Amino acid sequence: PPVPDVEALQHADVAAVLPRPAVESDKYRRGVVGVVAGSARYPGAAVLAVAGALRGGAGAVRYVGPAADAVIARFPETLVSAGPPGKAGRVQAWVVGPGVGDDADARRALADVLASDVPVLVDADALRLLPPDGVRARTAATLLTPHAGEAAALLGRSREEVEAGRLAAVRELAAKTGATVLLKGSTTLVAGPATGPDAEPVRVNPTGTGWLATAGSGDVLSGLTGALLATGLDARTAASAGAYLHGLAARRAAATPGRPGAPITASEVAGALDAAWRD
Ligand code: AMP
Ligand code: MG
Repeated sequence: PPVPDVEALQHADVAAVLPRPAVESDKYRRGVVGVVAGSARYPGAAVLAVAGALRGGAGAVRYVGPAADAVIARFPETLVSAGPPGKAGRVQAWVVGPGVGDDADARRALADVLASDVPVLVDADALRLLPPDGVRARTAATLLTPHAGEAAALLGRSREEVEAGRLAAVRELAAKTGATVLLKGSTTLVAGPATGPDAEPVRVNPTGTGWLATAGSGDVLSGLTGALLATGLDARTAASAGAYLHGLAARRAAATPGRPGAPITASEVAGALDAAWRD
């Protein structure tokens, strides 16, 4: 039978793939996620990406970047490494991009993680630094998480064109780059790189809310989804589960008793991820 073009993420399907520790688990077997985020200008992006990563079910979060003091002050459970990611300890997946800027250190960090043999989630600033030939030469999965503006830049189109044809845009970007793509926005979509008979349906996340349109919420999603990758989920599954949990968390945060209908912050979205897991 022909593959359907799109499929909506279902609560039970997402719940079934969430990682749970086994009796004999240790933190390394649960997975270590490396987070390359933040800069002197945007230290908060590092803190928010780590906040998301700490709720992704991995055994440890390793932060690599110039905002280690800010990260540790807020989350003392984070492992921090000085120097470039290529010299940091072993991780099972990398997140690179939120708030990193585009200087030489950011370029080096992206090159290091793309040269690794583990899955890499590329977001935000790092999307602008991707090599022109995409990520086809990588031996492990690559997941891009652009919003419409970032996707437009990668496709050489306007943001309006992407917004007017989000389904086509996410498919095209995945095919063009050889990566799995999570296109963020009012309807978050996940597409794999396969085309033709191997193409899988694009996944549509139903949990989003307009309250997520707030600074820093994308950084939380990156960390969360990267941690899910580190636990061993494939890119399509991690992206789907990440988007789903992130939206649920935002709804939980927005529905906090005594304050329904009030704006939420990215920190509050991260803080509600535990409730989203329980849901
Ligand atoms: P970023 O653009 O990187 O800050 O990420 C913003 C986050 O908020 C992503 O997870 C988007 O999917 C989500 N988001 C933004 N606008 C909306 C919207 N109108 N409805 C639902 N989710 C949204
Ligand atoms: Mg962003």
